[in-house]
Amino acid sequence: MFARNSTKEVRFNNEFKTEDYHIVLAGNPNVGKSTIFNSLTGMNQHTGNWTGKTVECASGIAKIKDKLFSVVDLPGTYSMLPFSEEERAAANYLANNEMECVVIVVDANIIERNLSFALQVLSVKKNAVLCINLCDEAEKNGIIIDSDELSLNLGIPVVCICATKKRGLKELKNTIYDICTQKKKCFKVERNFKGIDVLNAENHKVNSERLAKKSREICKQAVFFSSEKINDKSRKIDKILTSKATGIPLMLLLFGLLFWITAIGANYPSEWLSSFFDFIKGELYNLFNLLSIPDFFTGILIDGVYTTLSWVVSVMLPPMAIFFPLFSIIEDSGYLPRIAFNLDKFFAKCGAHGKQSLTMAMGIGCNACGVTGCRIIESPQERLIAIVTNNFMPCNGRFPTLIAIIMMFFAGSAFGIVSSIEAAAILLGIIVLCVLFTLLISKLLSITIAKGEPSSFALELPPYRKPQILKTIVRSMLDRTLFVLGRAVIVAAPAGAIIWLTANIYIGNASILSYCTDFLNPFGQLIGLDGVIVMAFILGFPANETVIPIIIMSYMASGTLVDYTSYEQLLQLFSANGWTVITAVCTMIMCVMHFPCSTTCLTIKKETGSLKWTLASAILPTVIGIILCLITANIMRIFI
Ligand code: GDP
Repeated sequence: MFARNSTKEVRFNNEFKTEDYHIVLAGNPNVGKSTIFNSLTGMNQHTGNWTGKTVECASGIAKIKDKLFSVVDLPGTYSMLPFSEEERAAANYLANNEMECVVIVVDANIIERNLSFALQVLSVKKNAVLCINLCDEAEKNGIIIDSDELSLNLGIPVVCICATKKRGLKELKNTIYDICTQKKKCFKVERNFKGIDVLNAENHKVNSERLAKKSREICKQAVFFSSEKINDKSRKIDKILTSKATGIPLMLLLFGLLFWITAIGANYPSEWLSSFFDFIKGELYNLFNLLSIPDFFTGILIDGVYTTLSWVVSVMLPPMAIFFPLFSIIEDSGYLPRIAFNLDKFFAKCGAHGKQSLTMAMGIGCNACGVTGCRIIESPQERLIAIVTNNFMPCNGRFPTLIAIIMMFFAGSAFGIVSSIEAAAILLGIIVLCVLFTLLISKLLSITIAKGEPSSFALELPPYRKPQILKTIVRSMLDRTLFVLGRAVIVAAPAGAIIWLTANIYIGNASILSYCTDFLNPFGQLIGLDGVIVMAFILGFPANETVIPIIIMSYMASGTLVDYTSYEQLLQLFSANGWTVITAVCTMIMCVMHFPCSTTCLTIKKETGSLKWTLASAILPTVIGIILCLITANIMRIFI
């Protein structure tokens, strides 16, 4: 997968050139490799303050002086004798590929701990530079590093940098250049750890201890502490955020706050955007009239494609533009691993791994990413459980559906503080239910078809970092929000056209659409939905984002209401088509519990290599969703 041709043509500044050298970034997780990679290549690889966010190798091109370098950013790994999938990918790449220079990145605050891996890398690769990153934090922590002494002991150049502030990057680039062009020589490093056969798996424990001793010995001479306050701040914060008494309540409060800001903040821009799109729609009608465009085209283009697109943008964009940047800031601060820590005992009781909560958090962004992220879990059984259940977390394609239904049916008609708090509390409740279901299903899987030995819980809690707020906001807007919106638009536009066509092509007295929805209607009604909603979930398979637009299109095509500008008018449209609170609750249940989108299914197939598990991941939530809807609808019908 990561094979590389010795030379290949690459596009750089719109010209095709041949890369001159190949360099690789390697190191423990969370030491700043992706940040350095982005600085070297000008790319935008995802960064975040937690272990395991990079599970795939990323590659890019850097230009240093007159030469082109292909750069690979490896997933973080602690050892050349790896435990988990993503570590294996990194170790294999280092052991089996040719490269002119390895940039071994270490965290200046924990050099001793990071150095074991550096020594292992040096046993298989001679040409390397030790890049000591996060020097700004180390300075604050009173750590003094003698880079010359380190260089002497390791036999390779050592460069101290601060990647986020781009301090020392020029020196790093020059050093890489000099190593690749052989202007700078690395010593024969074997002399540094005589008797340590680092790649001997059988002697792993003994070798690890020897490497640790060697690292300590080297650091004793080169790393000094001027004060004892290292990580003091993080420890103090952790006493509150990971304590038994306050950890989980504060976590719920934080997410409640996040949902509340999303709900209250999204409302007004949504309405502005709707009004704007409505105004444009009126103008488009006028223009089409003026140009005497036939009704058919007016229908398919304005009532079909345009109306669906304007829904997707006006209702999806504002909540996503608020939620994802805020979530990324939390991610960048280092809080996510604390969630894993807080929840580990619950996961352990269910035969799953605490790290699964990290992959679930990724699933809130995108289930396909969450499934790939499961590589951070070492035990195959626990990894499988995490993959199969990831879809129980609503991804960003399903989030706006939940928010829209909550705003319409449960948050009161006046959109004020109270209703937004209600909306946030309901959304939080749904997420908590999703977590409970994930735990329940994990437990069932772990005692039935995915039995196995649990792995130990080892997760690094990184120090809290001041998030790079502006950069994080911009990046999450571009990488997550606009990416998802773009995908939704691409799928929604043809979906809008198709739905409009099926609603307007008649066979006998009824349109194709009504044949389909009528066929599905009895089943839909049985489980508290209707034929249109069931069809929308089926047609939403390529992208969940399109479920609500398809429902709107189908209802509008049946002629009940032609226009809408806000949740209130949407509520009118839905109510006119028979929606009640029961329909709303059942649609939300179905929204969080049905088959994953096509991209996620393909990712599950790729990650598990098994059609059986892919089908299980699709069938399991769907069956549970149908049963839950059936029970809920019938119980609610008794009371309402
Ligand atoms: P990776 O896992 O090794 O790829 O690490 P990332 O590049 O994702 O960085 C991990 C975290 O450290 C992120 O929150 C970065 O913003 C932060 N970070 C990276 N380099 C520096 C640095 O030089 N100084 C500080 N203060 N933070 C940094």
